[in-house]
Amino acid sequence: MDLGISGKRALVCASSKGLGLGCAQALAEAGVDLVMNARGAEALEAAAAQIRDKHGVNVVAVAADITSEEGRSRVLEAAQGVDILVTNAGGPPPGMWTDWTREDFIKALDANMLTPIALMKALLPGMMDRGWGRVVNITSQSVKAPIAALGLSNSARAGLTGYVAGTSRQVAPQGVTINNMLPGIHATDRADSLDRGVAEKEGISVDEARARRAATIPARRYGTAQEFGAMCAFLCSQNAGFIVGQNILLDGGGINATL
Ligand code: NAP
Repeated sequence: MDLGISGKRALVCASSKGLGLGCAQALAEAGVDLVMNARGAEALEAAAAQIRDKHGVNVVAVAADITSEEGRSRVLEAAQGVDILVTNAGGPPPGMWTDWTREDFIKALDANMLTPIALMKALLPGMMDRGWGRVVNITSQSVKAPIAALGLSNSARAGLTGYVAGTSRQVAPQGVTINNMLPGIHATDRADSLDRGVAEKEGISVDEARARRAATIPARRYGTAQEFGAMCAFLCSQNAGFIVGQNILLDGGGINATL
């Protein structure tokens, strides 16, 4: 399918690995030039080089912490005038509701709610002036169904979801769409480290931990970054201009709900 976005420019945050990288690859395949970002320069440069070689698009890599004001301003300097914004960052640490302090909440809100909001605030006006834009926020299945150990994520991402619900309707008249993608369990470094933790705790192999978790998903497997990226590219395409303020769950049927 021709997505109709060849020659556009996108900022894809937190994109040297995992779901962010899947989105960057799928957009590059559609002919989109990229600004890619992550904290670690080595993996970021390697990912950028691989995308340039494979897809022949222009890629600018900015090594920076997207959740810090300083890092964000360097990324935004490189990303002025982009047509597409994909927000992403690492998720907050697990714990219990009895543990979290005000400081923990401020950190989670900063990273997973206020950072994407700051990026939108900076880049939406240009998209609106030009009469076309696409924003996709990577959130989590925890927005639909809370994950007990991830209360910080449940809270921060719910806040972002409320913001998007209201703001997406205000920018839609100018041809700009904002939507959220809600990953269930995907085979990335983050999923690997969770599986390693379970394996250690339960005295089983990592393969066994992974097989047990996969068995809880109706699709009986983890999602892939490639599938996730393909949906992101579709949401950024010309075909998706009527999809506004939606929360798209990619979880292999993991959340047992009718709507
Ligand atoms: P991942 O495989 O660990 O990759 C994370 C990527 O983000 C890396 O490129 C990392 O590079 C970059 N990154 C992390 N923090 C950053 C920061 N502060 N500034 C800039 N770049 C940063 O993670 P993932 O599985 O793709 O997860 C992406 C998001 O989806 C996370 O918020 C996660 O909580 C959420 N999620 C994932 C799953 C899943 O099953 N994978 C499920 C639900 C929700 P550096 O470390 O070099 O910065």
